Amino acid sequence: MFVDVIVLGGGAAGLMCAAQAGQQGRSVIIIEKEKKWGKKILISGGGRCNFTNYEVNPKAYISQNPHFCKSALKRYTQYHFIDLVEQYEIPYHEKTLGQLFCDNLSKDILEMLLSECQKGNVILQRETRVSKTKKLDNGHFEVISDQGTWTCESLVVATGGLSIPKAGASDFGYQIAEQFGHSIVNTRAALVPLIWKEKDLSLYKEIPGVALPCKVRRGDQTFAEAMLFTHKGLSGPAMLQISSYWKEGQQIEIDLLPDESDNWLEELRKTQGAKTLKQALKGKLPNRLIDLIVFKWQVPNKSLAQYNANEILKWTDKLKRWYVMPDTTEGYQTAEVTLGGVNTNEVSSKTFESNLCPKLYFIGEVLDVTGWLGGYNFQWAWSSAHCAAQFV
Ligand SMILES: Cc1cc2nc3c(=O)[nH]c(=O)nc-3n(C[C@H](O)[C@H](O)[C@H](O)COP(=O)(O)OP(=O)(O)OC[C@H]3O[C@@H](n4cnc5c(N)ncnc54)[C@H](O)[C@@H]3O)c2cc1C
Repeated sequence: MFVDVIVLGGGAAGLMCAAQAGQQGRSVIIIEKEKKWGKKILISGGGRCNFTNYEVNPKAYISQNPHFCKSALKRYTQYHFIDLVEQYEIPYHEKTLGQLFCDNLSKDILEMLLSECQKGNVILQRETRVSKTKKLDNGHFEVISDQGTWTCESLVVATGGLSIPKAGASDFGYQIAEQFGHSIVNTRAALVPLIWKEKDLSLYKEIPGVALPCKVRRGDQTFAEAMLFTHKGLSGPAMLQISSYWKEGQQIEIDLLPDESDNWLEELRKTQGAKTLKQALKGKLPNRLIDLIVFKWQVPNKSLAQYNANEILKWTDKLKRWYVMPDTTEGYQTAEVTLGGVNTNEVSSKTFESNLCPKLYFIGEVLDVTGWLGGYNFQWAWSSAHCAAQFV
């Protein structure tokens, strides 16, 4: 059977692209290997899909080519997607930092995308395993699967990254890219919890569940969000964000008192010198963390008035610039996204067509474009899908 467009991967980017291409009169088949469409949409945002962010901008994306994402994000913005959500009367709210979540369940977004596909007469082909794709002499593609063989003029690869194999993740998109001569920027788990080294694990494993606001820094990148101690390391939005900028062997700087200035302890010594440091930390940090700090960091049991200037500096530094060196991350099993992917220098940022193979397109997370936590990754899926749909 011949169709104009075959989309591989029925996730966020694939469904959006198929729907929009279909609505423009192209005949489209979308092929998904899993039984359910959009598994990651369903589990996203704690079940309420953080579908975009008011603050979308290219600085929130990591790629070897930081310019690549700019054009698509400008042509299909967060407001275009919000319009679509509003047309479907899906209730939503801003949670924090511009992040938009469904009031109800993520399935509202999935059902909207499937309705959009229906409007575009898209053929939905799920539970279908593609074994091979090839380019024919007439320039068309042949897609061979366990459910049949199709040919098409345009082939769109929207198979996502490697994170969460249980949600359908596979390296199939990278395989197709390599088959047609593309290079893959090294992939790595991102937006992922960090794991302590053995020696630190014994120190900090006693306070799982303790959460606090912090400012976390790696290189030039800083995030002011919540962090969470887990039974094996560090998580919470701040740590997930910084994990995308961190590599094994590097340190991470944590400000445990982001609302206090560097003069905080010195000022306190002047005004409340009778207090111990432990008393000074009460109400500023969770009690369990204070107890751990006092015990493990051997905080002296004396009043602040008895501290000399060096001690004040030392404890200010320890609390506001705590350096940690995690061992590794939890990996693709729990990562929300995959860094790296199809090299964007070999793909058009206007059409998303391969520069190496005419009529082959890559969209969404399979590309080397990774957003911050907070709806940025779905916005990339929508924006790249919309732009490709205008050309397939
Ligand atoms: C737990 C979790 C929570 C998240 N929460 C958010 C959030 O709230 N906000 C946000 O912006 N981002 C979130 N993300 C990230 C977001 O889900 C992804 O960035 C986004 O889904 C990428 O869209 P995509 O279409 O490129 O890939 P995917 O949505 O991963 O879709 C790829 C599809 O291709 C299919 N596929 C793979 N291989 C094949 C094959 N060989 N043949 C056919 N089909 C194939 C897969 O089964 C999958 O359905 C979250 C991710 C996870 C894991």
